Amino acid sequence: MALRNILTDNHPVLRTRAQEVKKINSVVLRLLDDMIETMKESRGVGLAANQVGVSKRIILAVDSVDEEEKIMELINPVCENKEGENIGMEGCLSVPGCYGEVPRAEKVIVTAMDRAGKKFRLEAEGFLARILQHEMDHLDGILFTDKATRILDPEELQSEEQI
Ligand code: ZN
Repeated sequence: MALRNILTDNHPVLRTRAQEVKKINSVVLRLLDDMIETMKESRGVGLAANQVGVSKRIILAVDSVDEEEKIMELINPVCENKEGENIGMEGCLSVPGCYGEVPRAEKVIVTAMDRAGKKFRLEAEGFLARILQHEMDHLDGILFTDKATRILDPEELQSEEQI
């Protein structure tokens, strides 16, 4: 495994629609492992492949249940359904030092493939649903700052989690 650089400053890859993964091969598996290491190192709770410069439809999302943290890997994720609305705080490893309030669906149903190529369906709500929507936006070249209804003033900044 190796750490990858996280793109910032509106890098063109962050603004480009990422491509579907056609085949899960050793390159994709290595990318997943590197993304996990990079996300952990950066204390992120989600990461999209194009944030590390690879224009492929792959995201990670951390599901925190009680004290346990489970890293979910989603290849070619598709949002099948959205329900409700929830406004919450977001930040992003690709937009360092910036936080804002972003409206998202409260619940989502997402289908994707795991690293074995098996399709699965995920129902998520609350913060996990928010992470998934934020990361899937990355794959379409969208940053949270595009959707934020309010960006925090620097003095309001605390140690918000970055997704
Ligand atoms: Zn982000």
